[in-house]
Amino acid sequence: MEIFSELLQEMEAYGRKNNIPIINEKGMPVLLETVRGKRPHRVLEIGTAIGYSTLLIAQEAAADVEIDTLELSEERAAIAQAYIERSPYRGKITIHVGDAGENILKLQGKYDFVFIDAAKGQYPDYFRKVYPLLTDDAMVLADNVLFRGYVMGNVECPRRFKTIVKRLREYIDMVTNNQEFSTTIREDGDGLAVSQRVRLSGE
Ligand code: SAH
Ligand code: MG
Repeated sequence: MEIFSELLQEMEAYGRKNNIPIINEKGMPVLLETVRGKRPHRVLEIGTAIGYSTLLIAQEAAADVEIDTLELSEERAAIAQAYIERSPYRGKITIHVGDAGENILKLQGKYDFVFIDAAKGQYPDYFRKVYPLLTDDAMVLADNVLFRGYVMGNVECPRRFKTIVKRLREYIDMVTNNQEFSTTIREDGDGLAVSQRVRLSGE
């Protein structure tokens, strides 16, 4: 595991140097804690970047975990693949390159843990598309839902972020008003929405 923590440190340094928005040190404990509490067997990650969160999830998930992870950028997916090959979790992780909104629709089977961390303006769309793929006890974790403090409270948001903020508010409303899920908004880092499925539709 010593070698693995060195790999993670190398990835953190690469992310910093190249401005890749990998989960930050304040959001990371929430990710680790939720995955550890859940010990999922089948994980869907939307937004791989260089595979940093993917490997953190792999580390905390069940020993038999299989992870599908979606990334738009071919370049980032190739970097992620190379890091994953150097980790103890190679063979458990499949990267699907292309638009997540399209690729979600091609996935088969059910997932007990979903990590949403790609295009923030698409979170409501991702949730709608992922919903039919959730197990009865699935957990959905969404990163960056409080986006720099613009989503809740009264910090005036620059024009260019208006749509993102609107969609993130829509996402939060969508999961909090959905009676099938028990949702907690964590203010750590850039804000994370933890939604645990507690009942099925019609129950
Ligand atoms: N989960 C990673 C960080 C992901 S950053 C971590 O914490 O380590 C968000 C990623 O989503 C970026 O790499 C970006 O290329 C990707 N992304 C943006 N739009 C996307 C889309 N439409 N489909 C798939 N991936 C997308
Ligand atoms: Mg993020």
